[in-house]
Amino acid sequence: MNYEIDKHGFYGSYGGAFVPELLFANINELAQNYINIIEKEDFQNEYKSLLKDYVGRPSPLYFAKRLSARYNTNIFLKREDLNHTGAHKINNTIGQILLAKRMGKTRIIAETGAGQHGVATATVCALMDMECIVYMGEKDVKRQAPNVARMKMLGAEVRPVSSGSKTLKDATNEAIRDWINNPGNTFYIIGSVVGPHPYPDMVAIFQSVISEEMKLQLTEQTGRDYPDKIITCIGGGSNAAGAYYHYINNKKVELISVEAGGKGINTGMSAATSVLGSDGIIHGSMTKLMQTADGQIIEPYSISAGLDYPGIGPLHAHLIETGRTKVLTATDDQAVKAGFLLTKTEGIIPALESAHALAALEMIEFSLDEIVVVNLSGRGDKDMETYLQWNTTDIIPD
Ligand SMILES: *Cc1c(COP(=O)(O)O)cnc(C)c1O
Repeated sequence: MNYEIDKHGFYGSYGGAFVPELLFANINELAQNYINIIEKEDFQNEYKSLLKDYVGRPSPLYFAKRLSARYNTNIFLKREDLNHTGAHKINNTIGQILLAKRMGKTRIIAETGAGQHGVATATVCALMDMECIVYMGEKDVKRQAPNVARMKMLGAEVRPVSSGSKTLKDATNEAIRDWINNPGNTFYIIGSVVGPHPYPDMVAIFQSVISEEMKLQLTEQTGRDYPDKIITCIGGGSNAAGAYYHYINNKKVELISVEAGGKGINTGMSAATSVLGSDGIIHGSMTKLMQTADGQIIEPYSISAGLDYPGIGPLHAHLIETGRTKVLTATDDQAVKAGFLLTKTEGIIPALESAHALAALEMIEFSLDEIVVVNLSGRGDKDMETYLQWNTTDIIPD
């Protein structure tokens, strides 16, 4: 591990654990145990074996020849889309459920917006025979019917939340309430590098397998264990944290995070948290979030449900503040175009989230000998309806 938080869970001025007193015991139990448990040999053996045989890791690092020719550089795709359940989220839920088991917990709760984290959680609960309750805003239950069906088939109970705006932040509040009421037997699985300490650090550790593999794969394929640039999309920031993790202290590697610009940064319909946001507390940590002058959270918007989050993880707030990462934004239009372009040039249909990272290729000047890695966080099966609603004749590139 080479990127450290302080003992209160702060990255610089971001992070920490701002939770109601009733949660202190749960959070402390987790904060005091997670590193010890994760570093134990039997944990590592079970985690690595599941990543290999259940998830299908290592995910390939694929040299995208035609895409590279188009941009006059060398583009590699880290293929998280090939993981079981179709994205990087499973790396984290497997880690957290093994931790829950070792802490003697028998009941799992989670919140989900688009349903992707809910499905990844329901999957590992089925695998480990654990009770699973997923909180989901009523509005999202209606919008995301296929994922609700998946969770139910996997044995999870989906609890619709009808308070507030009936979306992700309301589901989060309900999950936290549940945790307060069931402190003994319940483990709360959070799906990104957000939430109170130790979640951001813990989730980053579980996703760090992405850059750990990249080092070996780049050495094999290019003779060097680091790229010049890594490009990722960023919602809460877990796929980005995983792809950056082992390179954060290597200043030769440029880290580029792409946020969802929605219909345009100035339209009031975007999720460009770092551009539009300011410092505040969301989901139990100090970070950057979109809020009104009096501290009300602004509902985010993006065509991709996974990027539709009003905050970013505290690690990213810190990396942005210190200039370590550079942030670009891609609009819905730009992302959809990039999704079609990858499909046509490489035969890979990316998740709309990942398509935002690909859209950045249009915005950057590359040189011929550069090595660029795009983290392809997930596959596009779940987004077919959205892709096909677009007026494709306008945007399918030559
Ligand atoms: C959930 C999701 C994201 C966004 O989450 P991060 O925590 O920012 O990685 C990105 N891509 C896909 C495919 C997702 O499912």
